Amino acid sequence: MEEREGVRWCATQLGSKGKRHMHMTRHVVTLVVLSSLMMPAPIFAQSKLNVVATTEDLASLAREVGGDRINVEGIARGYQDPHFVEAKPSFILKLQKADLLIVVGLELEIGWLPPLILQSRNVKVQVGAEGYLDASQRVKILDIPTSQITRAMGDVHPLGNPHYWMDPENGRIIAREVADKLSQFRPGDRAYFEQRLADFDKRLTEAENRWSADVAPYKGIKVVTYHRSFPNFAERFGLDIVGYVEPRPGIPPSPSHTFELIQEMKRLNIKLVLVEPYFDLKTPEAIGRSTGAQVLVMPPSVGGVKEATDYFALFDYNIKLLVNAIKAAGGK
Ligand SMILES: [Zn+2]
Repeated sequence: MEEREGVRWCATQLGSKGKRHMHMTRHVVTLVVLSSLMMPAPIFAQSKLNVVATTEDLASLAREVGGDRINVEGIARGYQDPHFVEAKPSFILKLQKADLLIVVGLELEIGWLPPLILQSRNVKVQVGAEGYLDASQRVKILDIPTSQITRAMGDVHPLGNPHYWMDPENGRIIAREVADKLSQFRPGDRAYFEQRLADFDKRLTEAENRWSADVAPYKGIKVVTYHRSFPNFAERFGLDIVGYVEPRPGIPPSPSHTFELIQEMKRLNIKLVLVEPYFDLKTPEAIGRSTGAQVLVMPPSVGGVKEATDYFALFDYNIKLLVNAIKAAGGK
């Protein structure tokens, strides 16, 4: 409640005189430039929109759609746990100059983003402002709790699974939302954004066909993952996730949970443990030794490994990693 009031306070303060003055100054400068160049009035030399995305995945999707009409910066690196990012002053600087902020939502960034937004004092990207885009609004969300879960329980997925970008179909929806938002800010560039979106859509469909064909022979393969980062990925590509190294999302492994997991893996003959790049490998490796399972470091984000340079490369990397591991283990 206090936080919400803070947002309102900030918006009121910044919405006043100072802001109008800035706008006027910009208009004056634009007019001077225009008249000196003797250009016709409608041709405004528009600067690029500054887009900030909380993760490299959203940044990559925004880049696909925005092309050279936007500058995009991500905040959390793909090799960092997006639930627990160390806030840095440089993040506030990024937010200060942002026209649009794209967030994953579902409380993924709740531990670090809200104070940064407030401190940026940028009215454009405050929660609920036009320049604040919550990418979770139209995508398919899994793991929605059936009973009340609070953060006091330590569970970091209280509103459903926030790692939804790991299904390319959700990536497609996010790209659509970004295109709509960019067109809202720059109606004159709508055709450009729509054309880029259509091109992205086409390439994504081709890639999805390729990825699905690659994993098709291994449909239903049972795996264990460290954190619940992959339910959307698993649903799309036919993996069966039967357990987690974490007892609950955000809760570190405990000896009793690890013991039970090992028993279950032995019972079901599970030979793969997928670990996000930012988790300690000690427990997964101990599980691997007890069960004979391979431990794979699998990034759930662009930038999680150096090969995952963009949204397409992330899936290319993960599908190849999985298929090679399954083949090495002798098929199913
Ligand atoms: Zn999570």
